[in-house]
Formats: sequence, structure tokens, C-alpha cells
Amino acid sequence: MIERMMIPIQEYQIEGRTVFNTGVSTVGKGGDDYFCGHCGRKMIHNMNLARIEAPVVYQCGGCQCYNLPPEVEAEAGTAASET
Ligand SMILES: [Zn+2]
Repeated sequence: MIERMMIPIQEYQIEGRTVFNTGVSTVGKGGDDYFCGHCGRKMIHNMNLARIEAPVVYQCGGCQCYNLPPEVEAEAGTAASET
């Protein structure tokens, strides 16, 4: 499990994407922890956002600000040739 910081964005940057409010806490079935890029609150626990293909903006349940999942450039660079 890796602790990842979300990418903070402003409301005008949502650009029609689905907004998902993580609320008090969102717990997945395996993956990483994600923290709000605005206030540092843990938004998502044990989930792999890289596997979610839909464009989603994550709204912090604490400060109500918007975040994008962090880029997965490391995986894209190494795993591209395997598939
Ligand atoms: Zn926040």
C-alpha cells in the first residue's frame, strides 16, 4: 500500500467529469491510500484509483474541495509493453 497525494484542482477544472464525494471515508478492497491535495485529509483508504477508467473528480469530505487522482506515470512507463 502506498500513500498518494491527490492533485488539487478548482471547481472550474471539473470540466463535466463525474464528481464523487468521498464523505467521511471511502474504503476499497485493495490498493493505496489517497490524501486530499488541499487539506491533507485521508480521503480514500485501500483503493486502486488507477483501475477506474471513468473520468472522476474526487471531492474531499472534509474541505469540500476537488481533487484528481495522481498520475500513474511509473506504471505507464514500465507496463506498457506487457499488454
Ligand atoms: Zn480536503
